[in-house]
Amino acid sequence: MDKIEVNEWKEKLPLIKQMMAREEVLWLNPLVESATTGIPKTGVTIENVQDASDRLKRFAAYIERVFPETQASNGIIESPLTAIPAMKAALADEYSTAIPGNLFLKQDNALPISGSIKARGGIYEVLKHAETLAIQHGLITTEDDYAKFAEPEFSALFAQHKIAVGSTGNLGLSIGIMSAKLGFDVTVHMSADAKQWKKDMLREKGVTVIEYADDYSKAVEEGRRQADADPSCHFIDDENSLDLFLGYAVAGERVATQLQEQGVTVDADHPLFVYLPCGVGGGPGGVAFGLKLAFGDHVRCFFAEPTHSPCMMLGMMTGLHDQISVQDFDLDNKTAADGLAVGTASGFVGKTMEPLLEGCYTIADETMFTLLKKIADTESIRLEPSALAGMTGPVHSIRENREGANSENATHLVWATGGGMVPEVEMAAYYATAKK
Ligand SMILES: *Cc1c(COP(=O)(O)O)cnc(C)c1O
Repeated sequence: MDKIEVNEWKEKLPLIKQMMAREEVLWLNPLVESATTGIPKTGVTIENVQDASDRLKRFAAYIERVFPETQASNGIIESPLTAIPAMKAALADEYSTAIPGNLFLKQDNALPISGSIKARGGIYEVLKHAETLAIQHGLITTEDDYAKFAEPEFSALFAQHKIAVGSTGNLGLSIGIMSAKLGFDVTVHMSADAKQWKKDMLREKGVTVIEYADDYSKAVEEGRRQADADPSCHFIDDENSLDLFLGYAVAGERVATQLQEQGVTVDADHPLFVYLPCGVGGGPGGVAFGLKLAFGDHVRCFFAEPTHSPCMMLGMMTGLHDQISVQDFDLDNKTAADGLAVGTASGFVGKTMEPLLEGCYTIADETMFTLLKKIADTESIRLEPSALAGMTGPVHSIRENREGANSENATHLVWATGGGMVPEVEMAAYYATAKK
């Protein structure tokens, strides 16, 4: 985008000036509409999500067999929903803003297998690909016991097939771990910001890791190019995958059950507000879509992005989606928030969420670190910086009193997206950074 166009956008949308100054801002989506009219516009259906949910149930016997840490949940990969009253008090104090409703943390940092939200979509897409191949080769039918996937004739088949993905780290972990377990020949194309321990962990599990000196978009582009040249290779396209999106969307019905179990009502008088850290958009988009299917207009979803990487916010507010990048607006896409250092959003997710998303806001790295320390101190919950991006959401929606957010009847749910695999020394370093 040239200078003239950038100046035109700054005139048209004054918020962009604040974004270019890296201020923390809130943008409310003028195109949001009722779920009844909005959901049909997306082209994604409740049947699509149900199909994904059923597939994950079929695979539960296999998951339980090969990942014993999932035994307690019978092979269903799910995370706890935790009330965080001490953090609620700390947050209210930090922002001098009363938080009258409930505050919950959705602890995807504690998701089994890969310790981040990527254990939803990423693992789902690999399982779906494995199922498709196994059915094609007559090894299984959907009526069989899927624990069979652990048997040698399956890994022999998958060894002849490749899986590739481009990633800033966490998607690579989830795709790499799952693919390697099934026996696939898997390659992860890692951007420059990916952490060394993630590359080491993947290589230990037999995953091929290719490193790039450039950012996420470059790693994805190069991965896609190499995979396109090889018909035996399935490329997991984080920028454009319906399967990833559906894997994430299954979270909607699961959260509905968990809220019910905790005695939390969600209806017209008891609204639910959900705050989701956003990188390329698939994770938060899929989860928000699933929540809309479960709760309709009674849930309001916000995306949270670093002040240096607000790609989804720029894409949605200009309507240009994946046709622009944060670099067009002189932002450097540098952030300590793993998974959120994305300069160009998914066009598919941006367009899909246009009628359903309440808004987006940005958060500075310093704020994420401050909150990282606060939740460790108040609730003894250790998260990675990106997982804190959702935490200022309640403050934004309460100050706006958006759709009853500033009410005792409201429930605020902050989606903590990762941290479960972070080594102890790295975690200690995050905490030390926050202290300074
Ligand atoms: C990937 C990731 C996100 C965002 O998911 P996208 O699908 O990239 O938008 C948020 N938090 C963490 C920890 C992640 O790894």
